[in-house]
Amino acid sequence: MIYSTKTLKMAVMGDPIDHSLSPFMHGAVIEKHGFDALYIPVRVAPDETARFAGSAAFLGFCGFNATMPHKLRLLDIVDELDEKASAYQSVNTVRIRDGKLTGSNTDVDGLMTALDRREVPVRGADVMIIGAGGVAGALVRGFSARGASSVKVLNRTLSKARAVAEGIPGASALVMDKENLSETASGADLIVNCTPLGMAGVQEDFTDLSFLDDTKAFVTDLVYNPWQTSFLKYAEKRGLETMNGMPMLICQGLLSFQLFTDLRLDLQEEYDYLYPLCRERLSL
Ligand code: NAP
Repeated sequence: MIYSTKTLKMAVMGDPIDHSLSPFMHGAVIEKHGFDALYIPVRVAPDETARFAGSAAFLGFCGFNATMPHKLRLLDIVDELDEKASAYQSVNTVRIRDGKLTGSNTDVDGLMTALDRREVPVRGADVMIIGAGGVAGALVRGFSARGASSVKVLNRTLSKARAVAEGIPGASALVMDKENLSETASGADLIVNCTPLGMAGVQEDFTDLSFLDDTKAFVTDLVYNPWQTSFLKYAEKRGLETMNGMPMLICQGLLSFQLFTDLRLDLQEEYDYLYPLCRERLSL
């Protein structure tokens, strides 16, 4: 590929970043369509968020994705927040035009689209969220905004669960212990693991999954590497319907790509193209 000043430049920034599948996924879309575009991974230390954002604008990038630990910091760094970033209070997507940075969020719509594809209803659902980090915070707001009947946040550190649930209609916070896990799971329609437990490269995993013994919920893990975490394996053995983090990753990525480039994609077609490619890539 020969690049020019017209080439659409995009990136994903985070720390760590080596594990990110985004460059592969965006690269596959660019290559498939022959777009004059590039998408690169950049490792950006936690205290360098603003420096990277300014550099991306200076270098003429049309946008970038952000992952851990930058999603919350960007809220105060970008020039403006769009409706989504403002509603979910997390920025995973920054669109740049004429040096102006607009923060957006496609994580929430990415998961909602993935759930829609599986025909999992959110309106009226009792949702159980495990974890209270950056993604969980956005999802609590997202589920509440979409009319979930309740959103219970269970976290190792109760103060963080409280901070995430505070002021959100239908949301409440609990410490992540055996009793609360079991009791909440038994009444849940949808369970979402928003912790990195069981992820490749992470030493820790759930030590006791028996809280899944007495639930009929649809079980989702945001982790996609490994393809099936012990959490999802256990749920599947109990006969529960499950989904890993790949559908969300692809859906949020395609939404971001459109925001960066203003190109319109057939999202269904691109999803069907990327899903097997990404799956194959992970088993390399
Ligand atoms: P984060 O801000 O670092 O939050 C991590 C959460 O996990 C915190 O609530 C933390 O609890 C909890 N946790 C970590 N280790 C734990 C342990 N040993 N036991 C119990 N709880 C533990 O991370 P994030 O940005 O929200 O991301 C969460 C996960 O979602 C990651 O695995 C990430 O890769 C994944 N993700 C997937 C997608 C996708 O498209 N599929 C998109 C975004 C993120 P404390 O508060 O007590 O520390």
